[in-house]
Amino acid sequence: MTIFIRWGAFSDTGVLRLQNEDAVLAREGLFVVADGMGGHNAGEVASAMAIKFLGAAQSSGIADAQQLNSIIKEVNEKIFQAANGQTDQRGMGTTLTALAITPTNKSKSENDSKSVTVANIGDSRTYLLRAGEFRQVSVDHSYVQELVSEGLITRDEARTHARRNIVTRALGIEPTVGVDTWTLPLIAGDRYLLCSDGLVDEVTDIDIETCLKLNSDPQQTANKLVEMANKNGGRDNTTVIVVDVLDKDNKVVSKPVDSTLLKPEVNFSFRKLIISVVVAVVALVTSVVTTSYARSGYFVAYEDETPAARVLIYQGKEFLWFNPTIEADSTLIRSDLNLVLDAEIVTRPDFSSPTDVQKYVNQIREVVDGN
Ligand code: MG
Repeated sequence: MTIFIRWGAFSDTGVLRLQNEDAVLAREGLFVVADGMGGHNAGEVASAMAIKFLGAAQSSGIADAQQLNSIIKEVNEKIFQAANGQTDQRGMGTTLTALAITPTNKSKSENDSKSVTVANIGDSRTYLLRAGEFRQVSVDHSYVQELVSEGLITRDEARTHARRNIVTRALGIEPTVGVDTWTLPLIAGDRYLLCSDGLVDEVTDIDIETCLKLNSDPQQTANKLVEMANKNGGRDNTTVIVVDVLDKDNKVVSKPVDSTLLKPEVNFSFRKLIISVVVAVVALVTSVVTTSYARSGYFVAYEDETPAARVLIYQGKEFLWFNPTIEADSTLIRSDLNLVLDAEIVTRPDFSSPTDVQKYVNQIREVVDGN
């Protein structure tokens, strides 16, 4: 019997994050999800390095779990060295869950001799839906998984635990790392799911299982799962790969997905555009408010300090880079004013409307004319 592998993969920044630090690789024989961590974009660097090196290593073949294990250990060393070589990448790391189609027994027929090898470091996950039964193949390296293993909390409680994001193992953090691997038979009808914690933090296992059962096309299923994570909050980056093991050719060839070739993501650019628009609108509103404040109000003052100075009506204030402008000339001269009025004009009396300021100037004129 000939077995075909069909898959769909999708990685999304989510609702709250500005950058996608997850990386994904999906191509014939190798599927990888990596969830990077570390400031200054370093998480993105670490996860991209992980899939790049694994992808390159696959070109020369992955024979079995042992080989996958040692390749991942080499990847760990490379990320660790990069992290220690550059100050802005110090402390960067990545989780990784990988699924490789590996040969097992060459004496049997071609497909009987193939297996599925799953590897894991950290809290990205590989699940298996086989004959209607859904289970997690990988075991998380996380603080909450330790509590679950010790029977202190349930899996459900782990999902909402305050410290659920603490991973106890990741690539690039230590010079060496322990890699867990599992080898399973390649069975037609099986559906594997690889995902970052962005999915499992937002969507329960039961909802993931239902989605995997209700949707047949792997790409649509992957899209749907990411959509569910985003609908439930999308607080983290979410990456999903759905891998189907089929016993007949559906005449649909899955496209390879390599997130390192896709960046910068369209999604990210779109977010940047939205942020730029918001910043521009805020700047515009601030400018309008500032200008209208600086141009508001009127006051009366002398044009200079000489006895021949004209009494002028000004509009606006001295505020930031704004200066008041001459609104009108009252045609009164400082030397015409008595001492009381002179002292008053020196204080630059202000008014909120042009009518009020004009009324005030008229009153001064009446006093001057009456003298
Ligand atoms: Mg994550």
